[in-house]
Amino acid sequence: MAQKLSPLASPLLDKVTEGPTGWTGVEADEEWAAEVRRLAAERNAVILAHNYQLPEIQDIAHFTGDSLGLSRIAADTDADVIIFCGVHFMAESAKILSPEKTVIIPDERAGCSLADSITAEQLAEWKAEHPDALVVSYVNTTADVKALTDVCCTSSNAVDIVKSLPADREILFNPDQFLGAHVKRETGRDNIRIWAGECHVHAGISGPDLVAKTEEHPGADLYIHPECGCANSAIYLAGEGLVDEERVHMLSTGQMLDEAKNQQTGTVLVATEIGMLHQLRQTAPEIDFEPVNERASCSYMKMITPAALLRALALGVDEVDVPKETADAARESLERMIAVGQSGLGE
Ligand code: SF4
Repeated sequence: MAQKLSPLASPLLDKVTEGPTGWTGVEADEEWAAEVRRLAAERNAVILAHNYQLPEIQDIAHFTGDSLGLSRIAADTDADVIIFCGVHFMAESAKILSPEKTVIIPDERAGCSLADSITAEQLAEWKAEHPDALVVSYVNTTADVKALTDVCCTSSNAVDIVKSLPADREILFNPDQFLGAHVKRETGRDNIRIWAGECHVHAGISGPDLVAKTEEHPGADLYIHPECGCANSAIYLAGEGLVDEERVHMLSTGQMLDEAKNQQTGTVLVATEIGMLHQLRQTAPEIDFEPVNERASCSYMKMITPAALLRALALGVDEVDVPKETADAARESLERMIAVGQSGLGE
């Protein structure tokens, strides 16, 4: 059973104030970094940062990565507390995989437009309309939605997961329509129904953005996240010979880092949330990484400020809990994904 946390004193706590976009008032300086480390050690807490977090949050975290990879790493640690610097459904995933640990998100208002595109009630209605179909849900969903899911998928294994399911069974794929279109294209299945959800940040990285950037950087490689609105345009550019097909890479965030390690030099146009550039530049400093859309910043992710992290560690808030029945059912849908053999890297 997870422990409720008691507050700890911190000389920086008095500076934390609530602003219109989250907790503020504390700079990410050396005093802050030392205080974050001290409080984390006192709580036996592991700090996780998603790839889309602010650079200073990524740098102070014990681990940086995608939501599922981080949740699995945290489950293997002997930490009592998980501080998940990311959005709410990610902290839920950590709780599902570590029910005995206390899971904290530094600002519980950090939601996700993609996870919010489908509720458990909507999914239940959809299932009732198609009782023989199998439900495949992207990991960017709430615990309630995962609990109603047959098998989860990530952006790197979605194609393999769908291929592993019986060809004659209809599939209900949710919530991301662009990832769904990618899966449909790659599997060639015509019995996939796709929920019309989207992430407002990735959907906003458009075909015209991609065309303009490829004209500016004609020899560049393209790293395209399949959630992006420009994914179809990338396929089109390759099909028309406007971009060398070998330069177009449809990749999850984890796969982008692997690809960067192999590539080492040149220019790469990156179509995903701009927080990813920090990890990519650290991984391959010789590559010139350029965002396809430099305004593709997730305001939910950026609610995890230095002040929010300090407040969370000191006060032991905001705790994220998932009822046992929901967590058990959601864990089964994740375990079925892992059983397919390609556990994948998250978003
Ligand atoms: S970038 Fe999109 S999918 Fe990721 S947390 Fe933000 S809204 Fe959700």
